[in-house]
Amino acid sequence: MDFDFENRLTSAEEIPEDLELDNDNPLRPKTLSDYIGQEKVKENLSVFMQAAKIRQETLDHVLLYGPPGLGKTTLSGIIANEMGVNIRITSGPAIEKPGDLAALLTNLNQGDVLFVDEIHRLPRTVEEILYPAMEDFSIDIVTGKGQMAASYHLPLPRFTLVGATTRAGQLSAPLRDRFGVVLRLEMYTTDELAKIITRSAKILNIDITPDAALEVASRSRGTPRIANRLLKRIRDFAEILSAGSITIETAKIALKKLEVDELGLDSNDRRMLEAIIKFYNGGPVGLETLAAAIGEEAVTVEDVYEPYLMQIGFLSRTPRGRIVSPRAYEHLGIPFEGLSDQTKLNF
Ligand code: ADP
Repeated sequence: MDFDFENRLTSAEEIPEDLELDNDNPLRPKTLSDYIGQEKVKENLSVFMQAAKIRQETLDHVLLYGPPGLGKTTLSGIIANEMGVNIRITSGPAIEKPGDLAALLTNLNQGDVLFVDEIHRLPRTVEEILYPAMEDFSIDIVTGKGQMAASYHLPLPRFTLVGATTRAGQLSAPLRDRFGVVLRLEMYTTDELAKIITRSAKILNIDITPDAALEVASRSRGTPRIANRLLKRIRDFAEILSAGSITIETAKIALKKLEVDELGLDSNDRRMLEAIIKFYNGGPVGLETLAAAIGEEAVTVEDVYEPYLMQIGFLSRTPRGRIVSPRAYEHLGIPFEGLSDQTKLNF
């Protein structure tokens, strides 16, 4: 079997295997009460949804932001479900022209949710017709050119736009300002991830002991998508090692084979940290330079690698570039003396 763990196992980015899983959707919670963690977000959202229902209004537009795999798509489905409306799912790069957006919007029913993933990647021309759509629930479409040009004013049903982004900072101010509700998703605690793993195991009919669930949780980088993925991979090992049930011993052996260490770092994380230490004396090193050094896209480094490494205090972003912390040296078993005095001053 080819797992391709090196590249993908602990990446929070969606891979086909996750999508496959999403088609029949067994692991995605459908209601707010099934959605584990993110207490602040749930509390606020639940107030806004109840108020909109009482006033018999459409829910205000919602912007969800945070690193990949934390549950933004899941939450948009829950919003639609709790509001009793339909959801249309699309993404920023998929809407290429104003006409694409117009087609989506005019097909919505009153109250529907339009979910736009990676909304920071909407083309500017599309973004411009989204403003009046969000504000006044109408769009003006121009067809033809020159003397043949004609402009149509189309009223739209009142809808709720749910935008998701990994980088709220990249959203243009006029777009950001048009969201009435802005919610930031946080990385999950180990206890919350253990609950998610236990819930997923139940749904997938996998036997896992509470201590094994905690072990897997502590190595899931604060991310439910990774927790679910590790659970499924470890199950494969459990088939062979312990008659299908995941004990703490099986979990530890499997995670070792999968090269996921005690903190959830995989070979890619280690490679990146080691590159900063070896080639740039621990930093600071600019994002683009670093990405080139490890052969990754800068956005992948920023969205996938860095959030967790920063969360656990292994990496910091400074105006002059990325710096590896002494704790990361310790974890990697590299003596800290190698660090330049200038870099040390930054800690
Ligand atoms: P995002 O859109 O932020 O990249 P998703 O909504 O696709 O993340 O979530 C990834 C997976 O993690 C989902 O398939 C779901 O099974 C699981 N998940 C996410 N958030 C939760 C949660 N709060 N409780 C339980 N499972 C969750």
